[in-house]
Amino acid sequence: MKTIFEKGRAAVSKRYFPDGGFEEKAFAEKNLLRSKPLALPELSELDVVRHYTRLSAMNFSVDKNFYPLGSCTMKYNPKILEKVALLEGFSNVHPVISILPNGAEVSRGCLEVLAGLKDALLEITGMDDATLQPLAGAHGELTGMMIVSAYHKSKGDRRKFVIVPDSSHGTNPASSVMAGYEVLTVATDEKGEMDFEEFKAKMSREVAVVMMTVPNTLGIFNRRIKEVCDLARSFGALMYYDGANLNAVMGKVRPGDIGFDIVHINIHKTFASPHGGGGPGAGPVCVKEHLAKFLPSPVVSKTASGKTFLEYPEKSIGRVAPFFGNFSVLLKGFAYILLMGGDGLEKVSETAVLNANYILSRLRKFYRLPYERRCMHECVLSAVKQKEKGVSALDIAKFLIDRGFHPPTIYFPLIVDEAMMIEPTETENKQTLDEFIDALIDAARLAESNPNIFHSFPTKTPVRRLDEVCAARNLKIVFEERNAG
Ligand SMILES: *Cc1c(COP(=O)(O)O)cnc(C)c1O
Repeated sequence: MKTIFEKGRAAVSKRYFPDGGFEEKAFAEKNLLRSKPLALPELSELDVVRHYTRLSAMNFSVDKNFYPLGSCTMKYNPKILEKVALLEGFSNVHPVISILPNGAEVSRGCLEVLAGLKDALLEITGMDDATLQPLAGAHGELTGMMIVSAYHKSKGDRRKFVIVPDSSHGTNPASSVMAGYEVLTVATDEKGEMDFEEFKAKMSREVAVVMMTVPNTLGIFNRRIKEVCDLARSFGALMYYDGANLNAVMGKVRPGDIGFDIVHINIHKTFASPHGGGGPGAGPVCVKEHLAKFLPSPVVSKTASGKTFLEYPEKSIGRVAPFFGNFSVLLKGFAYILLMGGDGLEKVSETAVLNANYILSRLRKFYRLPYERRCMHECVLSAVKQKEKGVSALDIAKFLIDRGFHPPTIYFPLIVDEAMMIEPTETENKQTLDEFIDALIDAARLAESNPNIFHSFPTKTPVRRLDEVCAARNLKIVFEERNAG
């Protein structure tokens, strides 16, 4: 391990700054100063460049390999969007300028971008107004739940529950609880949809909102979604649409037209910002007219003549992020939407769904398909047959790494045993899909003929099989001084 990640000797010289260069007192309290000098390793510039270049090449990324991580929409992000984000007029503008009452002129261009993106998102989702502030999907959910709470309170209505199907992403119940609600979970029926009878039985005037992901994390479109919305409405509850799977339905169906009141969008999935690695994201929240007055302040809007201005909704839940959110992510999202156009976005969804169904139809002979129907933009298969031979979904994931593929999401959704959740996205070509499918077919055959070999995978990676719990709990992300000695 040490030879891969850590280089160099302890510093011979402990002096990094020339004598008298800094007065210690000048920039820190005594008790904050190091008691002994920092033991940095000593390396030449060339060694440092090689070290980091080598490390970066060990990373798995969508720029190097196919990355079918279900629900994450790991697609190709056109590189020109990075150029757009780096344009000086956008990258050098100071955020304070935009919020000075008279300074709005200075950053009019930035406000134009935000207003343009907002309009596009409203068009795509069929909603009436939006905030672009939230910094991630989960943050958008929390914002949405706070709006739900403010809405019911404004009517003097104190409701207790949020209904969430058991196929939902873990952030859905988490956001509900953070906003002060209790969660009622509804099971999934044999068709892969929320069990309608159970939903009906759990629905009451104490339910504040029903949170649905459409298509859900099984990649399945709920055919009774309109009925779900109508029933919720008859009890005075709101409908929340988790839009992280919007990549499946753009240009085909709009949450606002189905009957949803609130939608969050993952710009960093659907609209071409890299997702994963903890990088910045954006989770705009779109609402119907009756909820606009609760949106976080300020809202970027346009007058009828197209002039941008900032609105301060009368019953705003307050700010949820500094300034206007992650501006560069929003900018890239807007540029992507303009690049694709309405027709292009529709094509994105069509191709994403086609690709997922191609994978599903070629693999269903080899893996168990928990719900016998076509999928939307992702498919969920189960390795229960392989598990009988002692080969788990985790073993198959490790096998795939050796074949040069990022594994699909595994063990999620929680309701499918040995789940493998595959999302190819629209950006992969047939050759890549076939290579990936062939690797999974090989895995299924190898599970029959030589199941024991699976425990040795992966064999080609810099580090072999990790204790993943330990790796997650005891993450080492800082250079340790003692390693330098
Ligand atoms: C990714 C995802 C989220 C959460 O989005 P983050 O930006 O990761 O917080 C919520 N719901 C679904 C279905 C998702 O796939």
